Amino acid sequence: MTPMDSLLHLNQVNAQVRGLRSRLGSAERYLAAQNRQLEDLNVTRKEVSSRQKHTKATMANFETEMAAIDERIEKLRNELNSAETNKQYTAVLTELNTVKVQRGEVEDQILKEMEMVDTLDTQLAERKEQISERKKVRDHAKNQLEERKSEVGERLDELETEREQAAAAVPGKDLEIFEQLVEIYDGEAMAELFEINRRHREYACGACNIHLPFELVSRLMGACDDLVRCATCSRILYMQDELRGSLAKK
Ligand SMILES: [Zn+2]
Repeated sequence: MTPMDSLLHLNQVNAQVRGLRSRLGSAERYLAAQNRQLEDLNVTRKEVSSRQKHTKATMANFETEMAAIDERIEKLRNELNSAETNKQYTAVLTELNTVKVQRGEVEDQILKEMEMVDTLDTQLAERKEQISERKKVRDHAKNQLEERKSEVGERLDELETEREQAAAAVPGKDLEIFEQLVEIYDGEAMAELFEINRRHREYACGACNIHLPFELVSRLMGACDDLVRCATCSRILYMQDELRGSLAKK
């Protein structure tokens, strides 16, 4: 194997590893997104639930107040019946009317709180429904990830070993450049050199499409082991054997 063959082999195995990893990665991201949504729903459910508890407590206080008012009204009615003078009667009646107004106000408050409890009940039921739906989606995502892991896990281990071996066959400085380009270009470290027009000696980089000087083609054709890189995108250039063969015949 020439150094270029080793690089091309590494490039190929690298692409396979990345392809499998991205299949796992997308399943992992999907599951994480479902878990996040579920957490958000649980947080809002807790908020609604605590507001509901608070509202019920407020309502209970108003109900206690109402019971005290009713007791007071009962007492005043008795006093009214047993009033001995007109003046006494008028005073008790005035107080009774004031307490009745208070009763009305407390009654309004209780109604308001009851409506709020109903609204919160509905919201709580909605949240519970959403949570149970989201749990189904999340569980499906979990299964999908497990399935993919068992599908690709073993193959990925094999390929990662193969990648290590392929990398070991590439000269150190070339490997360093290759790995840098893999980082920059999402795995696409190499580009095929294309022939556009032989008569006009027009060639281009297969990745960024920029025209390449013929000097680069000559260097790729030559026996020199140095990497030839695109002047624009810096990717490592290679040539298909077919093109190399037909250019060599000339
Ligand atoms: Zn390029």
